[in-house]
Amino acid sequence: MEKVSVIIVAGGSGKRMGMSIKKQYILLEEKEVLAHTIEAFEACTFIDEIIVVVSEEEIEATKVNIINKYGYTKIKQVVAGGKERQDSVYNGLINTAQDSKYVMIHDGARPFIERDTISKVLEAVKQNKACVVAVPVKDTIKVVNNESKEIKHTPKRETLWSVQTPQCFEKDMLLAAYDFAHEKKLAVTDDSMLIEAYGKKVYIVEGAYTNIKITTKDDLILGKAILEASRLEENN
Ligand code: C5P
Repeated sequence: MEKVSVIIVAGGSGKRMGMSIKKQYILLEEKEVLAHTIEAFEACTFIDEIIVVVSEEEIEATKVNIINKYGYTKIKQVVAGGKERQDSVYNGLINTAQDSKYVMIHDGARPFIERDTISKVLEAVKQNKACVVAVPVKDTIKVVNNESKEIKHTPKRETLWSVQTPQCFEKDMLLAAYDFAHEKKLAVTDDSMLIEAYGKKVYIVEGAYTNIKITTKDDLILGKAILEASRLEENN
């Protein structure tokens, strides 16, 4: 079987949350956000190992308060993140098993990822080498001049997708794209952008609107509702 590694990035500062507690430790139904996220992947039989990326000073606490506490078995390492998200992903990437064929990258702050979506993106990557989970946008999106606030143009909504994680790639391609990015000093906000800049095709796999990224306090209200709804569904 081809080996699949998952990198969960939780090395951000979480400034937009405006809380003293780091967002991966915020409790949702008595369990930390990061623990919900890890559990989604831990439960997938087709995943071989998980690398968790947190800021340097959080490594010990993450091991004690999350990994040992719940007894996860697929976590191979907890490694330090970097200044930008792409630095954190790279630190995870170079710590994946040498013989991994596929790498899946997921935001630690997206705890509601469904097993179905994880398995769909892995199936897709076997055909297309680079696949990312996304949902069609519901709103009309404007490109704006941030200084004057003038609307510059309106892309056609039918062509717009809001990209989430997991993002899944053949590991060799992702490593090559990172080399390219380092050489060209590219700054990106997701891994798909790296592959696009490297000149390779990336495909969309349709996911769920509930796979939100917990970024601000409002998202916690939404998060509680999502968990409640999924529990009701399980009980029916
Ligand atoms: O900042 P953004 O919302 O794009 O972050 C998405 C994910 O990347 C979060 O889970 C965050 O913890 C992680 N991240 C990271 N290292 C950084 C910045 C963000 O691991 N330097």
